[in-house]
Amino acid sequence: MNIILFGPPGAGKGTQSQYLVESCNYTQISTGDLLRDEIKKNTELGKEILSKVDVGDFVNDEIVNSLIDEIVSNKKYHNKLIFDGYPRNIFQAKNLDNIMSKNNQSIGAIIYLDVTREIIEKRISGRIVCEKCNVTFNEYLDNEQIKNHKCGNEYLKKRKDDNSKTIINRYHIFVKETNPLLDYYSKKTTFYKVDASVKIEEITAKIAEILNV
Ligand code: AMP
Repeated sequence: MNIILFGPPGAGKGTQSQYLVESCNYTQISTGDLLRDEIKKNTELGKEILSKVDVGDFVNDEIVNSLIDEIVSNKKYHNKLIFDGYPRNIFQAKNLDNIMSKNNQSIGAIIYLDVTREIIEKRISGRIVCEKCNVTFNEYLDNEQIKNHKCGNEYLKKRKDDNSKTIINRYHIFVKETNPLLDYYSKKTTFYKVDASVKIEEITAKIAEILNV
């Protein structure tokens, strides 16, 4: 089954995707990660992407859609895709519908992670990410896990766009561009809303129940 995880920045899409990758052999498609990989290549495209990501603006739909197109057309990922951070607006959602049907694929579950702005700000301001394995921790809450992290502490870094000014912009853009997706998706029988303000394990348990895994 293919899954969409959507919700505001800091809702836990990446964390929950990691769980599904590790426990159920899913493939995570994080457009944020794909775009950060392009930035690292330091190409003209990477520089264009950086100028948007740095301030929290959306990257151009055509760029993001073509990254998704490439992955969905690869048969080895079929029926195990988790879309994390895509689609983020109606145009992308319609594009995903087209790409999926072109590849004889469908979305089995659309999971909305519902969380307040106050919680998001707290989570993002403490977020650190392992540059090697992409696992996310909270520097204020996860002392033990950070100390024992398998890749070593030197790879744990704050994202440049996780500063207070950019967080506010990202949240505003989410409300304007991504929230309308709720109308688009909530009418579908495959839509589920999950309270994402609770503990990580509780959110994971709810998702596992929905997906029956
Ligand atoms: P994320 O890692 O999901 O928090 O995304 C980080 C940044 O990448 C966002 O703030 C946007 O600048 C960009 N980005 C990620 N996904 C998309 C998308 N689907 N459409 C446009 N921009 C995106």
